[in-house]
Amino acid sequence: MQQFDVVVVGGGPAGGQCARSLAKVGRTVLLVERHKNFDINSFSSAGTPLQTLSQYDLPDSIVGSFWHKFVVVTSNQCGVWEARSPLGVVLDFAKLRSFLANDAQTQGSEVWMNARYVKHWQREGQTLVSLKRGSEEVVISTRVLVDATGPCRTVMYDKGSLKPDFLTGTGIEYLIEVEPEDYQRHADALTFFLGYKWMPKGYSWIFPMEPNQLKVGAGIINQEHQYIQHTEPLKHYIQLIIDQYMQTQTYTILDVHGSTLKYSRGLQDVYYRDNVVAIGDAVSTVNFLGGEGIRHAMQGAEIASKHIQDYLDGKTQDFKGYQTEMHQIFLHTWNLAEKFGMKKYLQDSDNIVDKVVTYLKPLSLEDVVDILFFYRFEKVSKGLPGYILRKLKFALQKLVQQTSGIFPFRKITS
Ligand SMILES: Cc1cc2nc3c(=O)[nH]c(=O)nc-3n(C[C@H](O)[C@H](O)[C@H](O)COP(=O)(O)OP(=O)(O)OC[C@H]3O[C@@H](n4cnc5c(N)ncnc54)[C@H](O)[C@@H]3O)c2cc1C
Repeated sequence: MQQFDVVVVGGGPAGGQCARSLAKVGRTVLLVERHKNFDINSFSSAGTPLQTLSQYDLPDSIVGSFWHKFVVVTSNQCGVWEARSPLGVVLDFAKLRSFLANDAQTQGSEVWMNARYVKHWQREGQTLVSLKRGSEEVVISTRVLVDATGPCRTVMYDKGSLKPDFLTGTGIEYLIEVEPEDYQRHADALTFFLGYKWMPKGYSWIFPMEPNQLKVGAGIINQEHQYIQHTEPLKHYIQLIIDQYMQTQTYTILDVHGSTLKYSRGLQDVYYRDNVVAIGDAVSTVNFLGGEGIRHAMQGAEIASKHIQDYLDGKTQDFKGYQTEMHQIFLHTWNLAEKFGMKKYLQDSDNIVDKVVTYLKPLSLEDVVDILFFYRFEKVSKGLPGYILRKLKFALQKLVQQTSGIFPFRKITS
């Protein structure tokens, strides 16, 4: 029977990074992924800030495009923020996962594609793991077992066992090929659509993937809204963007993919049980406000890897320290993001959603990125003086219009 220090189940950003990190320091690692290759279910839009590349030593070859512009379209408003140099990238999600797995392999890890986790059990101090590799059933032994199966949480929860209630969000995305002039209109920008017209109970988007290819998607929170009773299927909202916003007739759908994220409110997930450790979306590292999860999954994997090493070296007997560190880093910010997200997607009127754009308009793109990607929510108040000033100006103009017959002077100059 093959024996490993660590078996990582799931070849997403969390699992790939975890295997890569542990193999790099000389542990014997097996990374297991159920799909045959990473082109299958390449579900993520994979927008991320520029820092992700340097932080995780990722090559430019996995980058689909760079962005330096942010566009937010609501039912009645449109805000555009632009910087001089790139602030982020859209990754090719298939290439990212493939790179992580290949790098793990280069560092000495084994990688089994088309291998599905079935179950695990303890015998004589050993953890045995049963995998379906192609049509073959294989049993291996490991000292630590990692659940990196994302929203499935397949290792932590036995088949058929009761799972807690999760907040769920479903996203679908079309990868489309467009004419060069259509691509140019959306190149270099992340475009988001909010509000009742475009995507009630969620948001939709256009991301540039690579020359002449765009990702057009829509995501919804599967929960009741304070005002909205009915929504259309997600594909309706994707088509709405293509027909009404892009106004393009010549395009080819290259791929349709999607997934459902499952988020535990208040981060109540099970982080470890004996020598089984959960990482990435299996412990809700995805941020509820923006649905951004790649770099957070990788960050969580790095933290787990450190604790796994301590455990393997006999420095710790359990993974309590891992859970504590994860909560120290994520809990407060994630709770805030959850609160804002619940309000934005499930409570706000369309008018309030419009106002967000008006409110953020005076900010620089750097500020907007700081708020949305680095959760510096205190920066939101920077928009307040400009917002109040514009409101006052508007009220004054209205007053002058109404009283123009009474007062001798008519024109107001700003
Ligand atoms: C539509 C959509 C758009 C998104 N856009 C963005 C974005 O723009 N930017 C961003 O940062 N994040 C985005 N996210 C979120 C991001 O993709 C996830 O947070 C991230 O992929 C989580 O990584 P993970 O490794 O924890 O889990 P996953 O990526 O879900 O990986 C889990 C892996 O486990 C494998 N697996 C499951 N069960 C088994 C089994 N029994 N045996 C073996 N393997 C198994 C799966 O096949 C999968 O490869 C988006 C998500 C969705 C749904």
